[in-house]
Amino acid sequence: MRRTQLLSLARQLLDLPTAPYHEEAVARFIREFALARGLPVRADKFGNLLVRYRRGRGHRPVVFMAHMDHPGFEVIEDSEGGFAMTRFLGNVPREYFRIGARVRVIGGEGEQVARIWSLPDVDWSREKLVRLRLRKPARRGDYAMWDLPAVKCNHSFIRSRACDDLAGCLALLALLEELARNRVSAHVSVVFTRAEEVGFLGAMGAIKSRLVPPTAPLVSIETSKELPHAPMGAGPIIRVGDRATTFDARVTMFLEDVAARLAKADRRFRYQRRLMDGGACESAVLYHNGFRAGAVCIALGNYHNQAAGGRIREEYVDIGDLQQTVQFLVEVARRSNDFERVPRLLKQRLDLIFERGRRQLLSTAPAVRVHASAVGPVWAAG
Ligand SMILES: [Zn+2]
Repeated sequence: MRRTQLLSLARQLLDLPTAPYHEEAVARFIREFALARGLPVRADKFGNLLVRYRRGRGHRPVVFMAHMDHPGFEVIEDSEGGFAMTRFLGNVPREYFRIGARVRVIGGEGEQVARIWSLPDVDWSREKLVRLRLRKPARRGDYAMWDLPAVKCNHSFIRSRACDDLAGCLALLALLEELARNRVSAHVSVVFTRAEEVGFLGAMGAIKSRLVPPTAPLVSIETSKELPHAPMGAGPIIRVGDRATTFDARVTMFLEDVAARLAKADRRFRYQRRLMDGGACESAVLYHNGFRAGAVCIALGNYHNQAAGGRIREEYVDIGDLQQTVQFLVEVARRSNDFERVPRLLKQRLDLIFERGRRQLLSTAPAVRVHASAVGPVWAAG
């Protein structure tokens, strides 16, 4: 997708407020985006969305997934005397919550800037309580984000208070746009989930409500903390696993095959294949519930708004990485029928190597007399 077009979409989507359980603005945008392109949208009872693109026949379906939330605050009781208690939803260490820091409260009364007043002395690992000082009333159920620029783009980066995972949602909307505009022959379902940051609730819900097609290869798209061996600007990352687990090897091999061919055809296209263990992702949940789940991610700066020196800043992603991710996902959709072929090819190659060397292996085998006691599985010995 052209840079100007991608950035224009980024400015619209990343401008929207979001937090776990409060994804309504993002969900509305996605729904309108899909309907404007004639793509059917379904929601499950948990509020996860599925957008479908189908053109041509005989294509193996592929599923993509991204989450619509970002770590944020939720007001847990109506404000009183200019103060409101909030709970922070998502994983950010306590030391980043400085007294006086600005947050933006979003509620029925509109938006207002508030400040962190105090942190009640409770176990942070159990409940992240933060008391805010406000100018206007806030109500239970309002939510808040860090008061950072919603979205800023320069030559190299998109900076936003919530790249994780609105940049993933952006990549998937751009994918749908590319498929629709170029009338690509493919069969794609894109699932947008809720409340990932509080323990993959949306993804679990989408499994239980059967929103996720069960047998198709599935690729979750996330931003993931930049790592020394997985830098920004070096292209999309085929994520072989996360902090919790590795993913479906067949999906990973398929993704790598698509990427390798793309890199051959387009010398500007770059990609990486890495274990991204800086965090966990929805593929872990899907994979351990029997889905054929793999993942692609984009290296992220200031993960969960955590910047150097314990400060809270915008997250950022490399624009080239994002563009190449879209280019890659279009290819993944287009080449879905290769999904079974790639692992089979590896098996055939290994068999061929063995057949070639078999004779020599046999003829050079040292003559070993096998004792009766030595027969049996090796692990049984001793
Ligand atoms: Zn996150």
